[in-house]
Parts: sequence; structure tokens; C-alpha cells
Amino acid sequence: MNAEIIAIGSELLTPFRQDTNSLYLTEKLNQLGVEVIFKTIVGDNRQHLTAAARLAISRADIIIFMGGLGPTEDDLTREAVAEALELKLHRDPEIVRSLEQRFAARKMKMSANNLKQAEVIAGAIVLPNPNGTAPGQWLTGSSDGRQKIIVLLPGPPHELKALFEKQCMDLLRAKVPQQFIATRTLKIAMMAESQCDARIAPIYNRFVDVQTTVLAGAGEIQVHLKSRSHSLEAAQERVDQLVEKIEEELDDLVFSDNGDSLEQIVGYYLQMRNATLAVAESCTGGLLSERITSVSGSSRYFLGGAVVYSNKLKTKFAAVPPDLIKKYGAVSAEVVKAMAEGIRQRCGATFGVGITGVAGPTGGTPDKPVGLVFHALAGDRGTEVIERNFPGDRKRIRWFAAQQALDMIRRKVM
Ligand code: AMP
Ligand code: MG
Repeated sequence: MNAEIIAIGSELLTPFRQDTNSLYLTEKLNQLGVEVIFKTIVGDNRQHLTAAARLAISRADIIIFMGGLGPTEDDLTREAVAEALELKLHRDPEIVRSLEQRFAARKMKMSANNLKQAEVIAGAIVLPNPNGTAPGQWLTGSSDGRQKIIVLLPGPPHELKALFEKQCMDLLRAKVPQQFIATRTLKIAMMAESQCDARIAPIYNRFVDVQTTVLAGAGEIQVHLKSRSHSLEAAQERVDQLVEKIEEELDDLVFSDNGDSLEQIVGYYLQMRNATLAVAESCTGGLLSERITSVSGSSRYFLGGAVVYSNKLKTKFAAVPPDLIKKYGAVSAEVVKAMAEGIRQRCGATFGVGITGVAGPTGGTPDKPVGLVFHALAGDRGTEVIERNFPGDRKRIRWFAAQQALDMIRRKVM
């Protein structure tokens, strides 16, 4: 079975409020083996809402509406769904009583518009709301010979979650044919998306029963794999088989197949080898250190280092000879090598890392353009230098630079 989720509220169509409920619901529905095929966001407009409801009912098996169940004028979900289903609303005396009790318990007077929340679509089961006044509603029926399940849920996330967990999960489990979904994510560092896809598409295209999504970010590609089957083992097996084939093809370009971040992987390897790390960062301004130390337990392998933004501090803290900076410039292979070696030596670390580059948007020159970054990794067997030209704005270039440095460390210690 599949589902459509409809989030209702004009605030969700502004830049200030995001629909987060649908992420929660998608996770829960996936756990039940239900795939979400559409997500719709619609403002507090009766006509638009009715149209969205009609469309959803025509194309999905399970339709979940959330929001617009409040007592105010702009809460129109009950009315619109009833209209789309050509069903009547009636006032439920049980809900009226519980609303009255709720207000009385707080010594408050219930206003007339609260009675709106007691309106129930004909044939619906009322789902009590443990955390609020607006109850949910559950309807089943058939359209074009297909079973339909329609659920109305309150918008506030803590109300929606409690209600869904307590009541909807069991109701859905009883209706949805048992299906299991297995997922896995592969992470790949410092590879172009097109290049990656060209190599793995011939593989994942052979696994028609595994849904593959390639997501590219700055310096990291994630391959999300999803398989469904009658048993969790069978679903898991197909995903694992595909993971194995992709890893065979990409080999050490894949840095994680279980959700770990690049900084976590680097941490595992350093710890395994009893190695320590020190860094001298220029254009990343501490971003690399921030990422490394975001991992709990990083004190076991990360000694520290310095943000050596000025030439003076490159010399003072990372022992870069001033002549070298004068001769080659602060952004150069020679200087980054000296930074890595200097910080390694000063901190007494197994490995030293240096990063220097032009993050922009100003400061670029024809021979040292914005995006040019040098990375160095110094160890007891010499120093490796990588020169890269990263695209994008300042934030992206700095992220790329930290990512490249982490990947260099990973490759050295893995
Ligand atoms: P409503 O049920 O329409 O009265 O919504 C009440 C409040 O719940 C809204 O003001 C939002 O703060 C929140 N809300 C409604 N829908 C969502 C959603 N899809 N995701 C996150 N928050 C929501
Ligand atoms: Mg609303």
C-alpha cells in the first residue's frame, strides 16, 4: 500500500515555518512497509484543500491530513475532507462533553467556536488526542474498487506524534499487508557525482527491486538504498548484495556503509593505530578542528593545533620559515608542507595537517584564484601535498577543504 501526506497550514507556505510532521510520518509509514508517494502542502483555503483532498483520494491508498483541526476560522480540514468525500459532518456529543470537562478542569469558559472541534465526518472513528483538544479522525471506505484509509491528525507535532503512536500505528498494522523495508546508506568522499553515477548505475540498474537514490553534497555523495520484502531478512539481503557490488566497484572511495561521518571514520582509524593528530588551519579557520572534535572521544587521538590565519602566526605556531612565505606566498604547496611538518613537530603528533587557500569571494588573483586550496599531511615517512580548485562560495570552499583534509587522513591511516 502507498500513502499521501497532506500538511495543512498557510504558515507552512512561508519561509518561516517548515513541515516537519511529514518527516516523522514518513518514517513511521516506512516502518509499516508503506511507501509515501506524494507529499502535499496546502494553505488554509477551503477550495484548495478540497481539491488537494480529491486528488489524493484518487491516487493514494492511505491519505493522512495533518493540521487545520483547531477551533478557529482558518481550520478547515474537517469541512474540506467531508466535502471531497461527499459526506456530512455531525456534532459528536462525546467530544462536546470531553471538551467541556477539559475547560471546566482549568476553570475556563469554553467559547462557542470550540464546538467546531466536535464535528465528525459521517462514519469516522474518533481518535482521542492525549495532548490537546482536537481529536483525530479515522475513515475507511473504497473508491474505484480500491480500499482507502483516510486519517485526520492535529498539526502540533507533540499532539500528532502521541496520537499517531498510540492509536494509528495499531489500526494501520491491522490494515496494511505485512511488508518489511531495509535501508542502507553508502558514503563516498571527494568524487564527482557524474563520475560516481557512471560507475555505479550499471550495477544498481540490475537490482530493480532495490530503490537507489544518489544524493550529492559538498565533497560527499550519499547512495541511499531501500528494499522491501515479505521478511526483513529477505529485504536486508537484497540491500546487502547491492552494497557489496557497489563497494567492489568503488573500493576505498566508499568511506562508510553504516551511517558514520567522515570525522568518525577518521577517529576510528587513528585510534586503532594509536596515532595522534595536530592541525594548522588557515582558510578553514578551525572548521577541521571543529569537525574532528565534534566526535565524542576525540581527545584520544586529537592533540589540537592552531588557527594560523596571519603569516606571523604561521611562523610562530607552525614554524613556517618567513622566507618560504615571502618566496612562494602563503597559499602555496611549499608553505602548506611546512605548516603540516611544523605543527606535527611542535605538538609531537604522529600526523600533522596543514590547510591554506583562498576562500573568497575577495583575495583571488589570476595565478591564485578563489577556490585554490593546498592540503598537506605530514607523517614519519614524509609529507603529502594535495592542490585543489574548489567551486562555490566561501562556505562551500571551506567545507570542501576540511573534507579533503579528512579524506587525506583517512586514506593514510585506513
Ligand atoms: P493547526 O493544527 O493547523 O492548528 O496547527 C497548529 C500548529 O502546529 C501550527 O501553528 C504549527 O506550529 C504546527 N504545525 C502544523 N502543521 C505542521 C507540520 N506539518 N509540521 C510542523 N509543524 C506543524
Ligand atoms: Mg493551522
